[in-house]
Amino acid sequence: MYGGPGVKTDKDFPIPDTMRAWVLGNPGELKLTQKPIPVPKRAEVLVRIDAVAICATDLEIIDHGSPALIQGGKPFNKNFTPGHEYMGTVVALGPGVDECKVGQRVTVEIHAGCGQCKRCREGMYTSCHNYGLNYGEVDKGHRANGFTTDGGFCEYQVNNINTLIAIPDSMLDEEATLVVTAGTAMYGLTELGGLVAGESVVVTGPGPIGLLGVAVAKALGAQPVILTGTRDNRLAIGRELGADHVINVRNENVVEAVKRLNGGKGVDYVVECSGAPNAVNEAVYMVNRGGKVCLAAFPHTETPVDVAHIVRNNIYLYGIRGEGKSATHRAEAFMSQKRFDATKIHTHTFALDDLPTAIRYAKDRVDDAIKVVIKARGVAAHRVAAE
Ligand SMILES: [Zn+2]
Ligand SMILES: [Zn+2]
Repeated sequence: MYGGPGVKTDKDFPIPDTMRAWVLGNPGELKLTQKPIPVPKRAEVLVRIDAVAICATDLEIIDHGSPALIQGGKPFNKNFTPGHEYMGTVVALGPGVDECKVGQRVTVEIHAGCGQCKRCREGMYTSCHNYGLNYGEVDKGHRANGFTTDGGFCEYQVNNINTLIAIPDSMLDEEATLVVTAGTAMYGLTELGGLVAGESVVVTGPGPIGLLGVAVAKALGAQPVILTGTRDNRLAIGRELGADHVINVRNENVVEAVKRLNGGKGVDYVVECSGAPNAVNEAVYMVNRGGKVCLAAFPHTETPVDVAHIVRNNIYLYGIRGEGKSATHRAEAFMSQKRFDATKIHTHTFALDDLPTAIRYAKDRVDDAIKVVIKARGVAAHRVAAE
């Protein structure tokens, strides 16, 4: 029987003893297994996962390991379940938890910092100094599901109450998985200063974070919002999400185009979401003197940077990690008020058993895939549907 000391469940939400869970074997290898359903401890709840989106960072972890860190090392062959952009229903409460109810729909943010280091105390829990220290004698209580602890490519997961964001019934499961994506964009804009109304913003790279970066910047009142990229179909979605102008960097010099669109001057803020090798320099040439650049993508190679230009022009560069300072709550507020339609970037849905196919769609952008979502229930697996 499922349960533990002080754990509260409800007969309307029966919990089995085991669940289907994907685990990472060697690099690039995912295996479907059965795992025991984890039991929430103090300040934790059990979430029944109703939907989980695939993120570029999942693909990075599955193939290369980093930035996941399990027991102080790479996550391979450690019975580790990846996946971090999930939502679901609270089905069990740990001892003493009265912050939410069984049956409540929630989406989750990733990082539950240790709560005791300098950065956690500053609200920067995505930069926790005890990242990955959650095992053996170095257990500092840090949790980042899908990075340093088991994640969402399964049926149930334990979450710290600090990572829960309540969502309204009007928000679809698929849409709710995008709150953390919008939250990452929101965190980037928060770190740039947060006072975005009337400021000019360029977003470079129309991936999921870039596209929702456009939506969040526009909802915050930025003007103009300019999106740059290489694919016209993605740029068109950016326009639907609020971009005042789009620039296809294949067709024109992007720095000149940005200046032309903003009265000859550079813009106040750039949110760099492309990870392209020349992106940092282009970003610093696009901002005006004293402007700020947020770096939200992981490039694969060392990136050249024109330091002299940055110094002479008093330009600020910020690296951001994840969705800190409760930015997901602010993003969810915009989404539940329908200030933008994040579902425009959701393109495909697959059953949990079809995770490898779903990953192929996300990785190879099959059928123009942007956000691919997995549903543990209510979606027939392809091989069943084909019969
Ligand atoms: Zn992600
Ligand atoms: Zn910490």
